[in-house]
Amino acid sequence: MSCKVGIPRALLYYKYFPMWKAFLEKLGAEIIVSENTNQKLILQGASLVVSDTCLPVKVFIGHVLSLSDKCDKLLIPVVRSTSEKVYNCSRFLALPDLARAVVPGVPPILEIEFDYSRGKSYLYRQIYSLGKNFTINPFKIKAAALYAWETHQRYHEITAQQHLTRLEAIDLIHNGKSITIKETKNDGLTIGIAGHPYVLHDEQVSHNLIKRLKAAGVNILTPEMAPEAPDSNGNGHTQFAGLAKNYWESEEDVVGAGDWYTRIKVDGIIGIMAFACGPDSMMMSLVQRQAHSANIPFMSLTVEEHTAEAGIVTRIEAFLDMIHRARRRNEQCV
Ligand code: SF4
Repeated sequence: MSCKVGIPRALLYYKYFPMWKAFLEKLGAEIIVSENTNQKLILQGASLVVSDTCLPVKVFIGHVLSLSDKCDKLLIPVVRSTSEKVYNCSRFLALPDLARAVVPGVPPILEIEFDYSRGKSYLYRQIYSLGKNFTINPFKIKAAALYAWETHQRYHEITAQQHLTRLEAIDLIHNGKSITIKETKNDGLTIGIAGHPYVLHDEQVSHNLIKRLKAAGVNILTPEMAPEAPDSNGNGHTQFAGLAKNYWESEEDVVGAGDWYTRIKVDGIIGIMAFACGPDSMMMSLVQRQAHSANIPFMSLTVEEHTAEAGIVTRIEAFLDMIHRARRRNEQCV
């Protein structure tokens, strides 16, 4: 019988799920993904950690809890760094230990550490030790790793080339669902959204921000839709001219995205922040300044477990209304 491996639908799921799934399925595992985030799951996660933990980590713990009786093992990779001197938020590094400490009945955790600074041989050893849970054949592990890497690159290419959100790209890769790309209306607004993928693509956490904007006829841009350019290793990599050097993994999703939106002159920028996220409080202030200097309307939304949906809806409507009115006023002046 195949081993059931649980993957929490939170945090790095939005960046790496296709790669993890490809690797594990190639080695014969059955993948169980936790349900979509809902309010009960958020509150259960929040009840297990100290109150000043950021919302996405509370959501993550809720997902771990929901999987604890449904799988044989849980996959919780630790992504420390994926390029030179660029590090992830420290909260990511403690996720396996946190899950073991606070979630009752948590199944055995499959850990793997990605740390660019420790070189390729360390990465290969990590991949091999993860693969050993399913086979002792190193050639099978290598083949699974290559397949996973190809899947990851395809995932990134299609989001950028076809302007898909991460959820749409995951659907396309794994469920074969075709996506209808709506033609951009010449008179429609284009709004860029800056924020962590696990905030803006989690429909419960973001209160359906993307769906609401699309329903209002707005063309939306998200950070992963930025054009890709090869990095120094020849791999496809999202490049933002505004980031001469970034130090945090999430800078591209927030500051870099803000820079891209201002350069292509979107009609407005929405920054969505997680309550109790230290990096967000600093990065979103930079995006606000970028938008201000380019004379682009900016609105920031902060979400936490008690955020009221009605408040979010009102603010989105008011923001769009303001942009439309400014546009009409400008047209009358011409
Ligand atoms: S970057 Fe912010 S939201 Fe993300 S895990 Fe760290 S503190 Fe939480």
